[in-house]
Amino acid sequence: MNLKYQLPRFYENLLPREILEFSPEETKATCDNCAMARPQNKAKIHYRADLKCCTFHPFLPNYLVGALFSEPSAQEAQTIFRDKMARREYALPIGMVAPVQYQVGFNNREEHEFGQREDWLCPYYNKEKQNCNVWRHRGVVCTTFFCKSSYGKTGENFWQKLSNYIWYVELALLEEALVMLDFSPRQVMTLLDYHNRHEGTAAEKKTMVLPEAKSKELWNGYHEDQEGFYKKCFELVANLGKKEFHELLGETGQSLEEELFEIIPEMSLALEKIK
Ligand code: SF4
Ligand code: SF4
Repeated sequence: MNLKYQLPRFYENLLPREILEFSPEETKATCDNCAMARPQNKAKIHYRADLKCCTFHPFLPNYLVGALFSEPSAQEAQTIFRDKMARREYALPIGMVAPVQYQVGFNNREEHEFGQREDWLCPYYNKEKQNCNVWRHRGVVCTTFFCKSSYGKTGENFWQKLSNYIWYVELALLEEALVMLDFSPRQVMTLLDYHNRHEGTAAEKKTMVLPEAKSKELWNGYHEDQEGFYKKCFELVANLGKKEFHELLGETGQSLEEELFEIIPEMSLALEKIK
């Protein structure tokens, strides 16, 4: 299947054709019947079949949250977002973030905990259907994670490079939306400090919610209409042309893109070999 259909729909008109039309098939990561679960996986480290690799609360950038709010069929995800916003559970202008308490626990985990801790299950996981409520708009970690690759080291390398690139794309787009909505560079830095935390203050580790005053301060005047804010972020970056987007990536993003282009032929060869 083309990456076009594996990556968020948002990127269909934005990313280069070489990436979107590339079609790596990962047959070892059998997600419908999770390759990491018993009985097919007899290794000491294994995941629960009903939890898979979704014992993780991913970050969703503001424009992808807005994309989900703009999609009539995404009602389950919208309800989850609205609940998070009402509870002040780290719905922030950069996007939906895992509470610091959660991040600190997860980032300091023991190896055997991943795939086993039901209390860590992703809020977007649909337990009934055992699939993902945000699938066509999920974030970089989820789009590029494969527990096993059919292409060995080449495959691992490819997914790592794709991950580095898409993470940079996420950062560039979410920041662009914030700048267009009058957030200063300093405010953006403060907000980004809530992402991927290994440590937290005593107050942050005590609760899963943000104090109201802190939440208001971080929202920079948009506190009362967070849903509208996310939709605006989506509209602003959805209107970017390919050229503008490429400029936005700057030197770092463009060089990550080049690195990805360079590994595609190697990956294509590996693909041919196992056909
Ligand atoms: S990628 Fe995740 S769901 Fe898919 S097989 Fe691997 S552990 Fe299971
Ligand atoms: S966003 Fe979807 S794929 Fe990612 S951890 Fe949550 S349920 Fe799993």
